[in-house]
Amino acid sequence: MAKNVQEEVKRLAVLTSGGDASGMNAAIRAVVRWGITLGYEVYGVRRGYKGLVEDDIVRMEYKSVSNTVHTGGTLLRTSRYPEFSEVENAKKGAENLLKRGINNLIVIGGDGSFRGAKLLHDETQLNVVTIPGTIDNDMAYTEYTIGYDTACNTVLDAILKLRDTITSHDRIMILEVMGRESGNIALNSAVAGGAEYVLVPEMPVDVDKIAASVKKGFDEKGKTSTIIILAEGKAHLKDELIEKISKATNRTVNHMSLSYMQRGGNPTMADRVLGAKLGAHAVELIDEGQSGRAVGIKGQNVFDVTIAAALDGKKGFDEKLYRIAETISK
Ligand code: ADP
Repeated sequence: MAKNVQEEVKRLAVLTSGGDASGMNAAIRAVVRWGITLGYEVYGVRRGYKGLVEDDIVRMEYKSVSNTVHTGGTLLRTSRYPEFSEVENAKKGAENLLKRGINNLIVIGGDGSFRGAKLLHDETQLNVVTIPGTIDNDMAYTEYTIGYDTACNTVLDAILKLRDTITSHDRIMILEVMGRESGNIALNSAVAGGAEYVLVPEMPVDVDKIAASVKKGFDEKGKTSTIIILAEGKAHLKDELIEKISKATNRTVNHMSLSYMQRGGNPTMADRVLGAKLGAHAVELIDEGQSGRAVGIKGQNVFDVTIAAALDGKKGFDEKLYRIAETISK
């Protein structure tokens, strides 16, 4: 719904907020260049909502995003800024744009960032459109979020490398990956990487059963190594897993956490294309005078819903894929 009539000079700003995700730069690039092509002056807000409130706003030219499509992180920087939930701060942030004649804002981030964007849409004169950028892929309305595919491929690369060393030593490796509430990264990378076990927050775990099964793998199935993918949401089981599996198998059980490694790195082709598609669609919504919309993707198709709808519901867990993982790898 249009909030205010476009001024003669069309202006829009873009920011990234919350956790950085590979592919955000591809989205920023698309916003900047699609925006300029549609006749906008484009601005970048640095360091997310903190920078918005602190008036850290720069002009973005066509060349500002040269040579960035392949880079990880976010060239606009990002921040966690809990104070933004105070409506006075949101109003102050909006004022910093409006005083420059910028009445459109595109926000790239996860669900927290979407809440901030909704506040701006509800409480200020800004037209606001959001793009999902988070490695967790935990937003129910969209099939994928920017950064998820890259994070999964980083886990895959780790599995490949760890497999070499643990096979050489007949060992067991517990690889901890991100996913406090969502086992998406763990499950998909476990299936793609051939990890024997995957422990996710959505499913119950029987450590004794796993220990017995790992032993059976070595004794009866000719396994020379075993990899267990442990999502953060089940990380409290780490010590119990190490103790029981090493006792059952009489083998060394190593543990490592990929931690922040999963955030960085060159975005995959999928995340770059996703960034471009969602970025361009967000600009088109702005150009139609829309506000309070979130862009998403299903299959090849880009769509948009209200930000409120995008914040609704919990992403489903693919139990069938979990059963497949349980069956084909161990
Ligand atoms: P993500 O966007 O990756 O989920 P966060 O949850 O940390 O990351 O949210 C990013 C930022 O969005 C926060 O630091 C804060 O500035 C803003 N934010 C989060 N929740 C709200 C809220 N309820 N109202 C306004 N702003 C919010």
